Amino acid sequence: MARIDEFKRFVIRQYGLLEPLNWDQDCAEHLYLKNKFWNTLVEIERDHRTAYRIVIDADEAVAEMNLKIQDIKDYIFAQDEQRKEARKQHRSKKGSHTKAFDEKMKELKGQVRELSPQAKELRQKVRDQAKEALGQLEQQRKEAVKKAYQDSGLWWSNYNDVIDRYNTARVRAMKTGTELKFHRFDGSGGFRCQIQGGMTVEELLSGRYNIAQIRMVDQGCFAELRGGLERKSKQSYGSRNYKRGYGVLSITVYTDKDEGGKHRRRMLDFAIILHRPLPVEATLKELRVVRKRIGTDFRWDVTFTFTEKAAPIVHTHPEKFCGIKLGWKAVKGGLRVATIFDGESKPSHIVMPQVIVDKLIYVEGLRARIDTMTNENYEWLLKQVNEEAPKSLAEVFESLKRAKHPHPAKFAKMVGTWSNFEGYLPDVFEKADLRQKMCRRLSLEHQNLRDKMLRRREDFYRCRAKEITEEFGVIVLDKMDLRWMATREKANGEPTELHPKARHTRNLAAISVLREWIVKQSAKTGAQINTLNIASSTICHKCGSKVKAGSGIVRSCLSCGTSWDKDENAAINLWRAISQVANLK
Ligand SMILES: [Zn+2]
Repeated sequence: MARIDEFKRFVIRQYGLLEPLNWDQDCAEHLYLKNKFWNTLVEIERDHRTAYRIVIDADEAVAEMNLKIQDIKDYIFAQDEQRKEARKQHRSKKGSHTKAFDEKMKELKGQVRELSPQAKELRQKVRDQAKEALGQLEQQRKEAVKKAYQDSGLWWSNYNDVIDRYNTARVRAMKTGTELKFHRFDGSGGFRCQIQGGMTVEELLSGRYNIAQIRMVDQGCFAELRGGLERKSKQSYGSRNYKRGYGVLSITVYTDKDEGGKHRRRMLDFAIILHRPLPVEATLKELRVVRKRIGTDFRWDVTFTFTEKAAPIVHTHPEKFCGIKLGWKAVKGGLRVATIFDGESKPSHIVMPQVIVDKLIYVEGLRARIDTMTNENYEWLLKQVNEEAPKSLAEVFESLKRAKHPHPAKFAKMVGTWSNFEGYLPDVFEKADLRQKMCRRLSLEHQNLRDKMLRRREDFYRCRAKEITEEFGVIVLDKMDLRWMATREKANGEPTELHPKARHTRNLAAISVLREWIVKQSAKTGAQINTLNIASSTICHKCGSKVKAGSGIVRSCLSCGTSWDKDENAAINLWRAISQVANLK
């Protein structure tokens, strides 16, 4: 008898946490050590990359090629500098004065692009020849990592967490040709609890395991935990809050030995609101508690990762299909982000409500206000402080002067230092302090609102994606390269035509998020996603002739004279492409 393979599915649940109930310096210390361990790994990686490059560059052909490319790059840099100078002189960004430079740079960039496949080939050849030496380097790297975690002073679950992130990051860095970055410690960080062998939700709630447990409490007890402020119960039957659970989450932060050599386990407790129930049938594999700095405060949350047995998903309407064209266009009532055609009714649209759009624009405005305010603060301050300033204050002041870009944090630092010198220009200090506080208030508002609005936009996309993927068994998307749309330069070095205003609307729409959610939700409903690389936008759906590229949402076909909405036309073309295949079956 054929055995049906067990099908496993990940279930992720995230909950907000209140401030920990028994936080202390030792926990902060562990976050610090984790951050330090990360930086050690980055150092190891950088050394490894340097040694690696030395081996590769020892080859004459590679070295010669590198020099050749570097020469061109230096030349490009020199041209760019001259162009900057010309721009300054003519007080204008573009014109006849930049034309020669633009053309020269375009040509040079083309040369670099032509050389890069050859360079790649040469390096590959050396890699094959120097296998042994490179293998040794890899061995050394692994040993360095091992020594680093042994010396890290961290508990296994915590150092494993950092190593896992390091391994993911280095693979990505190698692929994209970037370097790992050092992290500055600002109090942010997290604790991961890996549950070996997994744990059921029942076991999690039973409190039998030290690694992680949740003790459920009633609402009154919970209110006491959070400082005795009992809020009026909103738990009327049937309301959204009715199903809420209140509890205390306890996790192991680390284990060690006390002075007497006795095993000791440090637990950290949080009040947690389970706004949706934990998946009872699933197995808990890991949980991660994260502490994130928001302005001057910290925000906490926990993410549970479960696995769940599941039958392979079959869509309820495998025969229904649609074409979806993603795009952005301001319309009445909001921002149109998708056009859907299913062959039956008229094309429909997904429109992001105007409220969300307006708030997102407001958030951008806040950012601009913070920038203006910071610039003004700098300008004002530079006029106030005189030569008699105490030495350490003068130093901070000098660094402020040298800074290329005004930054609120630097201004705050200046005010902070100033507060230690009460006698120095007290009136001015008071004003500076006031300015700093206003800026901070605005920053906090910006950060909170931005977080909130991005979540709201994502929620909106998640729900719409769910509806679509439940309705249609087959979905056809345009294979437009979202990454290409994000770059400001074409492959040949020319800037893309996207107007700044269009770019702005595109950022508001963030249709890549919608696309991601359509893919994610389809995995849950069993809908099939097809991406087609057809000229959906440039073919008239009525007569099939090619339409010239142009601007504007409504286009006219010169062959048959029909006018149509360009996104609707594309959605129809996408639908048709798949329906032809379906009919052939
Ligand atoms: Zn036509």
